[in-house]
Amino acid sequence: MRTLRILVVLALVSAGASPAQTLRIYHIDVEQADATLFVAPNGGTLLVDSGKNGHGDRIKAVMDDAGVTQIDHFVATHYHEDHYGGVDDLVEDENVMVVAAFDRGDKEFIGDRVNQPTYKDYQRAVGENSTHITRGMTISLDPSMTVTCLSSGGVVLGEADPPQTGNDENDMSVSLLVTFAGFRYFVGGDIESHTEAKIAARDLAVGVDVYQANHHGSHTSSSTAFVEDLSPTVVVISNGNNATFQHPRQVTLDTFAGLASPPTVFQTNKFLKPGTEFGNVPDEFIADLETVHKDGTILITVDGAAGTYSVSYRDLSHSFSVKAPTSAGTTRVVIESLLPNPVGNDRLLEEVTLRNDGTAPVSMVGWMLEDESGRTWSLSTLATLAPGASATIQRNAMAMSLNNNRDEIVLLDQGGQEQDRFAYTGSAEGVPIQTGH
Ligand SMILES: [Zn+2]
Repeated sequence: MRTLRILVVLALVSAGASPAQTLRIYHIDVEQADATLFVAPNGGTLLVDSGKNGHGDRIKAVMDDAGVTQIDHFVATHYHEDHYGGVDDLVEDENVMVVAAFDRGDKEFIGDRVNQPTYKDYQRAVGENSTHITRGMTISLDPSMTVTCLSSGGVVLGEADPPQTGNDENDMSVSLLVTFAGFRYFVGGDIESHTEAKIAARDLAVGVDVYQANHHGSHTSSSTAFVEDLSPTVVVISNGNNATFQHPRQVTLDTFAGLASPPTVFQTNKFLKPGTEFGNVPDEFIADLETVHKDGTILITVDGAAGTYSVSYRDLSHSFSVKAPTSAGTTRVVIESLLPNPVGNDRLLEEVTLRNDGTAPVSMVGWMLEDESGRTWSLSTLATLAPGASATIQRNAMAMSLNNNRDEIVLLDQGGQEQDRFAYTGSAEGVPIQTGH
């Protein structure tokens, strides 16, 4: 009897263990606004931004198409109506469940907008119970995915909290790096060149497959050094037909076209009003050519097993291959996270986690970590790292110390060659610093 029960359980587990390994990303047509729905392989959902006031029904329609009724995680990138206006409609819809909400906090800096109905609606719907997401935090969406916050409130991963000035709402947007089976995706709300420059300086988002253009393709974002770092294969612009903004800007499209490997650029909507600053990609890459209906949603479907993804809208579909990991040296072991400030004895409990991003197993014998002062940890005690595997080493009284306030850690292979490097300028007790590598 017992054996039979075990067999039945095993049969159920294996039947449930092979769903289609696909990640779906819906760039919902919300005109001059953002709303991006991720449906993970395990069915988990992440909604980044929620369009404008009244756009909840557009999001609900896409949820119906996707076959989901629940938003497991909602992220408001920042407190502008075109990014958080529609979430109250969803919360009030009895057929939709919004489970957890994230925003960057620091609501004391939004000034007069606290009196606006949109803000009050947001606070009542999810804002009062939101979790404040800061750089380095992760969202648990699916075990086969990572969702890492790279910036929040104008502070980027590896940077200490500077004095908050709160003078640029757009630039303080939450930005996220989302990965799945080698596929890498960047979404950053309306961050602008200042935060982009800090992300680029720290190599936090190098070599992505898809970049959702910051700030709807504005000329104040997608700065050259940042976009060169991303080096995206595909760019998706969520834009509308706003005569003042004229998104996307031609100068931004020119930046994309000037990259060493120019990406394929898609727009949710065509800009149709008069103007001298705007640009449009060719019609075949625009989802809604009339820019009046909600039919401009762009769906990206990632097949993790095949290493491919498609970009679909109207009756069109384009296929792309997931990028090979960036080649830095002959092997690809990276520093995934550091814990400079453990709860308890730093000399014993400081930790570094490494990950093999290559395609072959790597023996860690002879490998070392070295800090700015030249002191080291041996990594020889770690087991051979399988492709995709992570391993954590504890200090255990070794010489190198991860300083709590700032340090730079270098990963050296058995030949003494640098394989990775990460600098940080702050830490919080018990909180690992995700490098984004
Ligand atoms: Zn915006």
